[in-house]
Amino acid sequence: MQEVPIRYLKGVGPRKEAVFNNLGIYTAGDLLYYFPFRYEDRRNFKKMSELKEGEACLIKGRVCARNLKKMPYFIPKVRVKSIFEAALSDETGLVNCVWFNQPFLNDLIKVGEELIVYGKPLYSNNKFKLVSPEYELVKDKEDDFLNLGRIIGVYHLSSFFTQKFMRKIMHLVLYNFKGRMPDPLPFYIRKEKNVPNIARGLEEIHFPGTFEEAECARERFIFQELFLSQILVYLRKAKHRSQKGPLFKIREEVLKKIRKKLPFELTLAQEEAFSQIRSSLEKPYPMHCLLQGDVGCGKTVVAIFAAGICVDCGSQAAFMVPTEVLAYQHKQTLERIFKEFKFKIEVLTSSLSKKKIEKIKVELKEGKINIIVGTHSLIQEKIEFKKLGLVVIDEQHRFGVAQRVLLPKKGVNPHCLVMSATPIPRSLALSLYGDLDLAVIKELPKGRISPQTIWVKEEKRKWVYDFLKTKLEEGRQIFVIYPVIEESVDEDLKSLEVMHKEICKQFSSFSVGMFHGKIKSQEKLKVIKEFREKKINILVSTTVVEVGINIENASVMVVENPERFGLAQLHQLRGRIQRSIYQPHFILISKSNLSQIALRRLGIISQETNGFKIAEEDLKLRGPGDFFGNLQHGLPKLKIANPLRDLEILNQARSFAYKVIKEDPYLEKPHHRCIKEHLDFWFQQNANQRESNANTHK
Ligand code: ADP
Ligand code: MG
Repeated sequence: MQEVPIRYLKGVGPRKEAVFNNLGIYTAGDLLYYFPFRYEDRRNFKKMSELKEGEACLIKGRVCARNLKKMPYFIPKVRVKSIFEAALSDETGLVNCVWFNQPFLNDLIKVGEELIVYGKPLYSNNKFKLVSPEYELVKDKEDDFLNLGRIIGVYHLSSFFTQKFMRKIMHLVLYNFKGRMPDPLPFYIRKEKNVPNIARGLEEIHFPGTFEEAECARERFIFQELFLSQILVYLRKAKHRSQKGPLFKIREEVLKKIRKKLPFELTLAQEEAFSQIRSSLEKPYPMHCLLQGDVGCGKTVVAIFAAGICVDCGSQAAFMVPTEVLAYQHKQTLERIFKEFKFKIEVLTSSLSKKKIEKIKVELKEGKINIIVGTHSLIQEKIEFKKLGLVVIDEQHRFGVAQRVLLPKKGVNPHCLVMSATPIPRSLALSLYGDLDLAVIKELPKGRISPQTIWVKEEKRKWVYDFLKTKLEEGRQIFVIYPVIEESVDEDLKSLEVMHKEICKQFSSFSVGMFHGKIKSQEKLKVIKEFREKKINILVSTTVVEVGINIENASVMVVENPERFGLAQLHQLRGRIQRSIYQPHFILISKSNLSQIALRRLGIISQETNGFKIAEEDLKLRGPGDFFGNLQHGLPKLKIANPLRDLEILNQARSFAYKVIKEDPYLEKPHHRCIKEHLDFWFQQNANQRESNANTHK
């Protein structure tokens, strides 16, 4: 029943349909699952003498005066074309109401009419005023019971729909469909968890009688969402375990040989992570492991051990990385470590010559290449492997879910190692990535010096330049990061060039390089090589250097307009200069008038260096929708649940889901069919949503 298209509903024509689609609503079911984001108490009228500034209120009064003012000309910035004012009175006082750009009110609201309004009063000149309140004429109270005299839900809407319209259509659909909506929660779970059934839940979340009812209904849907997502996680895990992966027999001497080549000892944390991965590689089913660890903790080397095992056992290994520079950097490291193994290691990116790409394709297919490091190019259709045994996805947050799943498909259930420097708390990770095993590198290698973060305002620029000069004279190298959106117009790049010129002028006795995503690929590699070889002292760059680049002598980084970066990004950037034996300095030059949220972000980054803590703060600042958007492992987007806030419900949901899957791993029992059916609906909903997002972003 929930699949009935929205356009079949009474009063929904093509235009409204389009607006609904934009909100992600395609069917009656989608509509009913579009929940209010807050509630307003409109049960009691207030007398005008009882009004308080800023406190939302419902009042009834008679119109005693009104006036429509039209602007003689259009003032673009103000965007006010007309102002309609009405004075309302009851036996205790008077209130002024103002509406902008709604001249038709002049025909609707006449002197002597009785009017109900809802809004937050402002107080000035000894008078209360309501700006653009919701209004209702008492004489046409047709759908009054939906909007007044009760607790009402408020929805996120685009400007085309009014709250009133939404409540009206919601009510219509609810009463037509609620008896026929399938309940995804089996009866025995509802009973045990003591939550309302779907019909009551929907009614009470949209039109609650009391705030307690609304709360109870919300909890039901939060539970439902988390329960279903956990069911998916367990289903996926069961599927992984039922597959046959490549069989690796690990030889100790291989590991020894790799160890010998390392210029350092593994940290205890690395050893632990590796031993976990090693035991997964020996299992008969494919490994699906998420390796988490702060920037610079040394994840690469752990992946290299896995690659060594893989190739030694006769399979191929593939590393997917987000940038070309990182691909070459990994290749270099791999070649150094596997020098005596005679492994053939290649890089694949889209900027190679056609001939070279062709050659790599053939050699991959014939199994001549043992390890390939590549960018997105690896997941192109035409790339085939002879025997892909291990997939490593580095900096996984830089890839979409769809991209991440494509690479493993090029083999027969290869082992997968996904690496992330955006750590999330363990309990959350377990639920979001419950189908992956979790390995964590908890500490940085010894001897790393904690960075000093210096946050200054524009006025101190001179001081910063002087500081940089002393560092340059000591022989250090410097990154200057400029906020340019790589994909955007050339306008932005111009400002990078201006910055480059300015730095050249200020530091005329040093060599200054420039780096950004639009430079030709040959040039890119050349610039990085020169920086590595200390031929360039200062590198003015966009955030393309953010991921993975490792240059040990560069211990200072200046970030211009840091308010334009996210927390995770700033932390990643700072990670670039934390690789040396020198004291790292991370200098932020910000504007003076910053938004509250920018101030918070910069405050956190100045004080906190632990990536796990920063990720947690980031989660709080950004909200889970944003944060999990890309993290979530192919699960439908959560709409009402917030795994961070709802941790307790999440844990309950997990244990219910675990029991269900244990008893009925394929959801075949009649009392579980409702779950299976709803999962299909949920995925469809999500696919529609994605499509509509893609359309609006074209
Ligand atoms: P990330 O986890 O951010 O990918 P990398 O793997 O790039 O970090 O490692 C960062 C740097 O630390 C590299 O230069 C690497 O050689 C070095 N490194 C890795 N492990 C150790 C260790 N146990 N001791 C000292 N240095 C290490
Ligand atoms: Mg890395």
